[in-house]
Amino acid sequence: AKQPVRVLVTGAAGQIGYALVPMIARGVMLGADQPVILHMLDIPPAAEALNGVKMELVDAAFPLLKGVVATTDAVEACTGVNVAVMVGGFPRKEGMERKDVMSKNVSIYKSQASALELHAAPNCKVLVVANPANTNALILKEFAPSIPAKNITCLTRLDHNRALGQISEKLNVQVSDVKNVIIWGNHSSTQYPDVNHATVMTPSGEKPVRELVKDDAWLNGEFITTVQQRGAAIIKARKLSSALSAASAACDHIRDWVLGTPEGTWVSMGVYSDGSYNAPAGVIYSFPVTCKNGEWTIVQGLAIDEFSRKKLDLTGVELTEEKELAYSCLS
Ligand code: NDP
Repeated sequence: AKQPVRVLVTGAAGQIGYALVPMIARGVMLGADQPVILHMLDIPPAAEALNGVKMELVDAAFPLLKGVVATTDAVEACTGVNVAVMVGGFPRKEGMERKDVMSKNVSIYKSQASALELHAAPNCKVLVVANPANTNALILKEFAPSIPAKNITCLTRLDHNRALGQISEKLNVQVSDVKNVIIWGNHSSTQYPDVNHATVMTPSGEKPVRELVKDDAWLNGEFITTVQQRGAAIIKARKLSSALSAASAACDHIRDWVLGTPEGTWVSMGVYSDGSYNAPAGVIYSFPVTCKNGEWTIVQGLAIDEFSRKKLDLTGVELTEEKELAYSCLS
């Protein structure tokens, strides 16, 4: 039998956490044959709610769930974890400046970086979900220098999946037949959902999305804004932010990273930029990646037209500004 994998979820008593932990315990993240031990961290005001989530996990009697650690102590939560999903963060409240939110999150991610660096299992894989996700991940990387940079990522898979969903609705095809969209850059409204290399499997073979949609105005306009603003649309409809889709995307991200992407398919992940595609180096930027043997590789050599170039640059500039803002919060 396989040894259990220890998975940390921070902010586990929150909305996304509540949707995510049962998915992990059911094997959605790491596979139906992979036992797991859940480590759940939250802050003291959420301790009672966190204990309630633990009670429900016990009551669900998940066969793969070999243990639950529910704690408000970051060291206890991080000890021995193989996978860390960082959902806890300070939400932007009405009237708060960008700098105030950044400053709160910089201090959270700085301290959690140290806890992970000192106590996580070697080669722990980290996924940051909490916003500003890219920059929180960058801070985590800076303050956990012994964790390899390639092990620290942020979530843009929800945006990727939203793009697949929009194409599937537009063409009335199965979402599983659509692939290779790309989310470039920041997990924010400057992200660029790119369909220029996306395809759909049809009865007569794989066809480019642009050839099938035949509506460049929609692809270059409404499609992009719908994906960029989908989070706000969900809040408007549900009066709560997206949680089940965010949790599902977090599982997809880790599953593909650990178990590999299918042949001929790439996914989007926020990773430490090496300057590929002339994106700024030294920020966490979302790229198309393939994964094999637990490692991601940026897909190289894709043609970038002038329209896309501008959008890749714009989101890159925002990430550089966020990085500067984050550093100014440190001093
Ligand atoms: P959610 O579980 O709804 O969201 C958690 C984080 O994920 C937020 O930062 C949210 O950003 C972010 N996020 C990223 N992508 C998405 C997406 N596509 N849709 C929705 N959210 C997204 O928040 P809750 O408030 O319910 O839960 C947060 C938990 O974190 C609480 O249990 C709280 O106690 C804990 N917490 C921990 C802190 C710490 O560790 N020090 C500090 C503060 C809170 P956005 O806000 O922009 O929607």
